[in-house]
Amino acid sequence: MKRFLIWVSFLTLPLLLCGCGRQEPQRLQDVDTAMGTVIQQNLYVLGEAKECPEEILKRIRDLEERTLSWRLESSEVYGINRSGGRQEGFEVSEELGQALQTCLKLTEDSGGAFDVALGPVARLWDIDGWASGQRTGGFRPPDVRVLTQALECSGSGRLRLETSADLGRDGGKARLYMEEGTMLDLGAVGKGLALDRILEYLQTNDAVLGSTVSVGGSVLTYGEKPDGTAWRVAITDPRDVSGSLGMLVLEGQWCVSTSGDYERYVESGGVRYHHILDPSTGYPADSGLCSVTVVTKEGLLSDALSTACFVLGREKGMELAGQYGVEALFVESSGEIFMTPDMEKLFRGKSDR
Ligand code: AMP
Ligand code: MG
Repeated sequence: MKRFLIWVSFLTLPLLLCGCGRQEPQRLQDVDTAMGTVIQQNLYVLGEAKECPEEILKRIRDLEERTLSWRLESSEVYGINRSGGRQEGFEVSEELGQALQTCLKLTEDSGGAFDVALGPVARLWDIDGWASGQRTGGFRPPDVRVLTQALECSGSGRLRLETSADLGRDGGKARLYMEEGTMLDLGAVGKGLALDRILEYLQTNDAVLGSTVSVGGSVLTYGEKPDGTAWRVAITDPRDVSGSLGMLVLEGQWCVSTSGDYERYVESGGVRYHHILDPSTGYPADSGLCSVTVVTKEGLLSDALSTACFVLGREKGMELAGQYGVEALFVESSGEIFMTPDMEKLFRGKSDR
């Protein structure tokens, strides 16, 4: 018996030692707010951490406070908007310079449907204020004359960006010249830029095996789930926002952004006035769509293209998605769903599941 026990312990000791060295991944989850939206983190990590790393929220808040916000005095965009018309222009950070470079190219490629210089029109409508309940009393669309004036002060034709050839390679420079009265509004790309910042962080953190992080309507998938199954990202049903139209089934790293007329809107006289504006009219885009979802590797692009495709409508939006080599899913006001060919491989509709 004694000899048997010695044998057993001899055989099991290495196994026990091995087991002590192996870490089981654990799941960490968190829901918080930043950038005026809900941030949901779902991380699979190795190690002893009990909470999601603070760095993710910190990076989102920093992006808002130091770079993008049009409300906070601490941000670059705020400073630029306050002093339009300055002859010598503004030296902008490399991150903002690169983002503006991509946005201006998309303005061109979308025939002006996407435009980050729509600030005067967006402020006039202030759909965010009405939708969040900060503004109360009867909503009325802006006066046509005032809207026309705001449109005249808007548009990327009133911006000029000068960039050094090494922009984006650490140390590059960008200078923005903007006509007086024009204002930047980077609301269409903020969440996507946040995903790019989060991805950069996750790539340097070896403890994170896989994660999904959603910043409002934009979701980052990264790495793998310990059980080897794919990530699933729900597509909100635009007319029943507590439900979904289906799921995107994704392996590894992707950025998924949705622009929808259900995200921020106010209703008046039976009309839904939402937050995605058509620069050619100054009114909320009326392209026959209620949502567009774009899937690609980069957050900035997924976010910018979902907004651009929403304004363009299905046919032109499909063309733009093809031009940029991204996958897109369009939900028309009738409820019909249209997709780029490869999106069909990623999407599982309710009836397919
Ligand atoms: P998203 O929800 O990403 O589609 O972005 C909508 C936000 O982008 C709005 O709240 C505005 O701040 C801004 N925006 C509205 N219309 C446009 C447009 N046509 N091009 C660029 N930005 C826009
Ligand atoms: Mg967007």
